[in-house]
Amino acid sequence: MNKLRAAAPLLEQLVPYDPKYLPADAYLSANENAYNPEGALREAIAQAIAKVSLNRYPDPLANGLRERIAQAYDLEKDWVLVGNGGDELLFNLALAWGGPGRAFLNFPPTFSSYEANALLTGTTVIEVPRKADWSIDEEAALAIAASGDVDFIVVTSPNNPTGACAPDSFLRRLLEATDALILVDEAYAEFAEHSLVDWLPEHKNLVILRTFSKAYGLAGVRLGYVLAHPEVITELVKVRQPYSVDSVSQAIGEVIMDHREEFAPRIAQTIAERETMAQALSALAGVTVYPSEANYLLISVPQAAQAWEYLYEQGILVRDFSSAPYLEGHLRVSVGTPEENQRFLKALEEFLDTLPVQEG
Ligand code: PMP
Repeated sequence: MNKLRAAAPLLEQLVPYDPKYLPADAYLSANENAYNPEGALREAIAQAIAKVSLNRYPDPLANGLRERIAQAYDLEKDWVLVGNGGDELLFNLALAWGGPGRAFLNFPPTFSSYEANALLTGTTVIEVPRKADWSIDEEAALAIAASGDVDFIVVTSPNNPTGACAPDSFLRRLLEATDALILVDEAYAEFAEHSLVDWLPEHKNLVILRTFSKAYGLAGVRLGYVLAHPEVITELVKVRQPYSVDSVSQAIGEVIMDHREEFAPRIAQTIAERETMAQALSALAGVTVYPSEANYLLISVPQAAQAWEYLYEQGILVRDFSSAPYLEGHLRVSVGTPEENQRFLKALEEFLDTLPVQEG
């Protein structure tokens, strides 16, 4: 039989996630950490991996790692759930709080996975687009949240790709306006030096998402976690794949937690580099740079698609949003090593020099 029954109808409108990774000299497109764990830390990781029983299934809930994470935040371990990257936990959220007949409130432009997960789970997406300065339209968001027709909400803080944190005053009002589950995606919170973790005990509908992929340099390992009231964790546990976090990743995560403090200087360096880059970019004619509290900067550039091409020809890969909804004319550049950042700035300046001088 040479026939194939069609896949589920909801897949028709779905496009697989594409990180748009291309070979380059300077990878400034995925908001990764520019530094691979090295030296004594790498040694400790190697030793921990050597002890893993590869023939045994992993602990489904990664209790060793969970315990360390809980301790770091002064919480009990049943407030923590580890996942195969933050990505898996975001999907679990849509499975557990979404589904047919349920609704998700999104604030585009933001991380595209939220909407994709909603579509994949048959969840209705309600959008409140951000304002021209990329801030959330607070009154519109609060009105929809208070209507009671929303089951879950994701607020990305700092927001990817626009860079700023959501104001505490808004988050407090939102948490109080609704019983919908509100996930605050803090994937980049270390670079903002700001977090809502302390709010957890007073808000049962608050979930915080964190990742090892950014500040802790483990994007290749796939480890993220949520912090939330145990009642929320219990529901998320029901939908997760039992062995999604493999033993090697768990072992690496434990080492990273034990060495967590050592990352502070790199985080500080990234923040300082971000500010240096923002200043240099704001001095370029025609370029707008938005304030960022993360490890990337969103910029608006004349001829953004051509600028992306030019940068890529120079070996520099940045994220092209030049034709993305809400983000036309924009590029996002991750903070890399100081050398990579300088190289990016120089190439962008060269590109701008090739443009005809604007009359004005
Ligand atoms: N949230 C945001 C806002 C992100 O940008 C990312 C990664 N790009 C994630 C979550 C997921 O990260 P990971 O799966 O690597 O933990």
